[in-house]
Amino acid sequence: MSKQILILGGGYGGLLTALSARAHLTPEEATITLINRFDTHQIITELHRLAAGNVAEKAVALPLQKLFKNKEINVQVETVHKIDLEAKKVVVESGYSFDYDTLVLALGSETNFFGIPGLQENSFVLKSVNDANRIFAHVKERVRQYSQTKDAADATIVIGGGGLTGVELVGELADELPAICRQNGVDFEDIQLKLVEAMPSILPIFSADLIARATSSLEARGVEFLTALPITEVNGNVVTLKDGRTIETNTLVWTGGVQGNSLVANCGIEVNRGRATVTEGLQSVSHPDVFLAGDCAVVFGPEGRPYPPTAQLAWQMGELVGANIAASYKGNKMESFSPVFSGTLASLGRKDGIGAIGETGIELKGTPASLMKKASNARYLSHINGLFTLAY
Ligand code: NAD
Repeated sequence: MSKQILILGGGYGGLLTALSARAHLTPEEATITLINRFDTHQIITELHRLAAGNVAEKAVALPLQKLFKNKEINVQVETVHKIDLEAKKVVVESGYSFDYDTLVLALGSETNFFGIPGLQENSFVLKSVNDANRIFAHVKERVRQYSQTKDAADATIVIGGGGLTGVELVGELADELPAICRQNGVDFEDIQLKLVEAMPSILPIFSADLIARATSSLEARGVEFLTALPITEVNGNVVTLKDGRTIETNTLVWTGGVQGNSLVANCGIEVNRGRATVTEGLQSVSHPDVFLAGDCAVVFGPEGRPYPPTAQLAWQMGELVGANIAASYKGNKMESFSPVFSGTLASLGRKDGIGAIGETGIELKGTPASLMKKASNARYLSHINGLFTLAY
């Protein structure tokens, strides 16, 4: 009898699970249903470009129906409300419920506000296409307002968090704001673009040399870095830093960190600090009928340290989960997850970037890093757009 595979989430982990499961199982062997809150697969590694108006929405929001064309994968555009592991049922916000034989949790991560007073209520986040569109519309409107009111808070943009998300966003804004200012008759010199980072340095995953390169490149384009200064409170449009100084801003974007998905953390599955713990084959350690892909799970490396939640990991997890579900149905041995790290690339605006490539971390700066980042995105798009061949 046909098995029911239910996948929650249409990000990197969920999409790749669906494609991989279908590549290994015929529609007679398994019905595959993917539930996602949007009708698109969103390329969240490129959202910083959408948030600064440097890319069209259609380049980062790919219709799931199109990606699944002729693949017999059902898409349900719904928001998950409850995961009932005992009843083997998932309830969505519209009230419908979905049964499963095998459940795949690929719901991604959530923004962590670390309990900082006023932060969540008074900041933007960058986790979806809607968030990015909101930031771009808001920034444009603030610059337009500034042209009339000359209120410095309209001309002040603060990014909270100097990880990859914050730095990539500030780089894109630094490149796009001059044109937005020109369109509104505003002198770009009036704009204050600040990045606030709690730790002594931005981007600690890179070498001191690459960090210096990123810092000087962005400073030359008008970014001011405030490091070793955690945001401690936000009150309306006033951001307070640890040393007591305040910044008045009408645009605060919070990129200060992520945490596990709360639906997953609270569904009764075994978790470690809010992220589901998995076997080598990416099954839940507590519930063998549940597989995990992407940021909502935690995978430990050989030294016992968790891997960071990244797109490349989520993608590889999804591919293995699809194959392992098929193996479990066919009585074959499941493969162990053994990630391949292609390195880390950070864009610093339209034409600049830094990167540490491959397992050995060969360093790249400038155009080569920027081109490599574009190539890595193109590679992913071609992969999901048809390189999957049916194995059955
Ligand atoms: P992050 O956790 O990597 O960085 C958040 C930063 O915010 C940290 O540097 C932290 O010190 C800082 N911070 C925390 N509290 C603060 C406070 N109170 N005030 C000021 N700063 C504060 O988060 P991220 O950048 O969103 O990245 C999340 C994950 O996604 C990471 O694993 C990252 O590698 C991955 N990612 C990768 C790429 C890429 O490969 N290009 C791009 C974006 C995200």
